[in-house]
Amino acid sequence: MSTQNTPYKIYLEENEIPKVWYNVRADMKNKPAPLLNPGTLQPMSADDLSPVFCRELCEQELNNTDREIPIPQEIQDFYKMYRPSPLTHAVFLEKALDTPAHIYYKFEGNNTSGSHKLNSAIAQAYYAKKQGLKGITTETGAGQWGTAMAMACSFFGLDCKVYMVKVSYEQKPFRREVMRTYGAEVTPSPSDTTQVGRKLLAEHPGTTGSLGCAISEAVEVAVSTEGYRYVLGSVLNQVLLHQSVIGLETKTACDKYGIKPDVIIGCAGGGSNLGGLIAPFMGEKLRGEADYDIIAVEPASCPSFTRGIYAYDFCDTGLVCPLAKMYTLGHDFIPSPNHAGGLRYHGMSPVLSQLYADGYMRAVSAEQTSVFAAAELFARTEGTLPAPESSHAIRAAIDEAIKCRETGEEKTIIFGLTGTGYYDLVAYQQFNDKTMTDYIPTDADLEKGFASIPKVDL
Ligand SMILES: *Cc1c(COP(=O)(O)O)cnc(C)c1O
Repeated sequence: MSTQNTPYKIYLEENEIPKVWYNVRADMKNKPAPLLNPGTLQPMSADDLSPVFCRELCEQELNNTDREIPIPQEIQDFYKMYRPSPLTHAVFLEKALDTPAHIYYKFEGNNTSGSHKLNSAIAQAYYAKKQGLKGITTETGAGQWGTAMAMACSFFGLDCKVYMVKVSYEQKPFRREVMRTYGAEVTPSPSDTTQVGRKLLAEHPGTTGSLGCAISEAVEVAVSTEGYRYVLGSVLNQVLLHQSVIGLETKTACDKYGIKPDVIIGCAGGGSNLGGLIAPFMGEKLRGEADYDIIAVEPASCPSFTRGIYAYDFCDTGLVCPLAKMYTLGHDFIPSPNHAGGLRYHGMSPVLSQLYADGYMRAVSAEQTSVFAAAELFARTEGTLPAPESSHAIRAAIDEAIKCRETGEEKTIIFGLTGTGYYDLVAYQQFNDKTMTDYIPTDADLEKGFASIPKVDL
C-alpha cells in the first residue's frame, strides 16, 4: 500500500531520463518465438532481416539476452525535448468515482506527434542515420506513427516516405499536413507507385486501403530503393525495447514517492506502449520479486488477445513481411470501422503474446461507446482530451476503481495515457451526436479471418 502523499503531477529531473533501455526478454524463461522467413519458414537471422531493417535494429530485434541496452547520447538529447513525461495522480477522477482506489497515469502525449510513438521513431531514425542511409519508408493508419517518424527524420536529415491508408489520407488531412510540414512525402495507399499497390488497385478498384496493404507497399519501396530501409511503429521486439523508457520513468517516479502499484493497465494495438509501460514491473514479476495485475485493453471490434488464436501469421496482407508467432485474428481480418485507428491491427507483439500465453498478464475488451463515455469523464475531470486509443485504458482503470468502491479495497492503479485526441474530433462528434455504433464481430466473422492464418508446424 502506498502512502499516496504525492504531488498532483510528479515531474522527474532531466537527469532521471533513462540512460539504458530495459530488455524484458532477458528475464523471460520462455522467449518470444523467432520471426520466420516467409519464403523458407526458417527463423530469420540478422543477415536475413538487414535488407529490410537497419543493421543495429536487426541486432536489437534478435537480442534476447542483454538486460540493458545503452541509449545513445543523441537519442537521450532528443528525449529531453519532451521527457521526462509526468506521472499524474488522478485525484479529480478519483473524487468523481468516489473510489478508495488511487489512480495514476503516465502521459505520453506532450509532443507534436501527440503520442508515445516518438520514443521509438527517434531511435529508429538515429540508427538509420548512423548507418549512412538516405531515408526510410513506413506506413501509417490514422497518422500518429507517420507523424512521429516525420519528426524524427527531419531531426536527423533523413528522407521519409509514408504510405498512408487511403481512407485516412482523404478523411484525416490534418496529420498528413503535420507530416508534410516536417518534410515527409505522403502517398495514399494503395498507390500506383508499387507492384503490390497496382495489383490491389486492379483487383479491387475503389478500395480505401488497409494497414496491411500500406505495410506491403512501404516494404517493397524500401527493399527496391538504394539507401532506404523500412521502419515499423509497433509489434516488433525493438519497438517494445525503445518504449521501455515509459515504464522506467514510471518506476523511478513510483520508487521516489513510495507508490506501489497493484494494477497496471494499457491499451493494446500492436502492444508497444503497454509493453513499454509494464517492462520493469514485468521484469520484477518474472524474477519473482513482486507481483502486479497487468491488464491489456483492446477494442471489442478487434479482439486479438481475447478472441484471437496464438499462431504464426503474416504481419501484412501482401505476405512480404516475416511471420510472427502472436495472438492474431488472421492477416485477412478487416476490423469494422472503429475510431481507435491505432488499435485496428490483426496481430499483437510476440513478447506480450508469450507473456499472455504464460499467464503473466490478462486482457479485457471494451466497446467503443463505453470507451468514449470514459474519455468524456476523464476530459471533464482531469482536463486532458484523451486519444480514443488511450481511452481504452481509461475505461479499464475506471472499471477497476469502481470495483474498489464496491469492495472497499484501496488498490493503486496506474494506466498509460498514450496520447491526445485533438485529431480525433470526428469520433467525438459521433459520440456527442449519439450516432456512434458498437460493432462486435460474430464468431462467423472471426472464422473468416482465422482461415487466412497459415499452417506452420515447427
Ligand atoms: C498507436 C497508438 C496506440 C497503440 O499502439 P501500441 O503499439 O499498442 O501502443 C495507442 N495509443 C496511441 C495514442 C497511439 O497512437
